[in-house]
Amino acid sequence: MGIAESIALLRKEIPQHVKIVAVSKTMPQVLVKEAYDAGQRAFGENRVQELTEKQLFLPKDTEWHVIGHLQTNKVKYVVPFVSLIQSVDSLKLLSEINQEACKIGRTIDCLLQMRIAREETKFGLSFAEAKQMLNSDEFKSYQSIKLTGLMGMATFTNETSRIKEEFFQLARYFEEIKTKWFSNDASFRELSMGMSGDYKLALEAGSTMVRIGSLIFGERNYNR
Ligand SMILES: *Cc1c(COP(=O)(O)O)cnc(C)c1O
Repeated sequence: MGIAESIALLRKEIPQHVKIVAVSKTMPQVLVKEAYDAGQRAFGENRVQELTEKQLFLPKDTEWHVIGHLQTNKVKYVVPFVSLIQSVDSLKLLSEINQEACKIGRTIDCLLQMRIAREETKFGLSFAEAKQMLNSDEFKSYQSIKLTGLMGMATFTNETSRIKEEFFQLARYFEEIKTKWFSNDASFRELSMGMSGDYKLALEAGSTMVRIGSLIFGERNYNR
């Protein structure tokens, strides 16, 4: 199946209110452009170098999301154009984003990446760490970032019940954080969960944003 066809199929299957982020990491620019020409506008990348190169190649109305671990020393390269940083996993990173955004007069939308998988390799904050961050005076002082929700990745497994459990856990985190910190803030509304293999389970748990790579572009040569 071609890229345009895959996108059309996903659009039919996924409810209108759920945003599809096409994960284009490792994919060449021409394929990303092919997806763009099929109407896809939001793309997720996890390497800053690759992201900045593709951003120059694609039309200006392309929406770029950072979905992988972001090093603080790379923040300045993405802040000028990025639409959403989905992978905020420390106060230090958030502070750096705030500083760089402030310098150029932008406000950057961010998601907190929560650790829901039991695998140790996954980045992300525990619920306790997230709460501590939200309570900190530093966080409250940031004027150039806006937290718009949470992101998480389930364990890579065939065990459906476990994946479901992790997505529902993330949804509960979202509700609690929304109630305690953002009850009057309509822009805190995104629950980014679900990839090619598990997006249907994520939708059941209330996902508002799915990050789909291989179902759109085909299998990657190496997984990262
Ligand atoms: C690679 C990646 C995806 C997409 O994975 P697929 O299985 O190809 O859909 C989604 N989210 C994150 C954070 C990723 O790194």
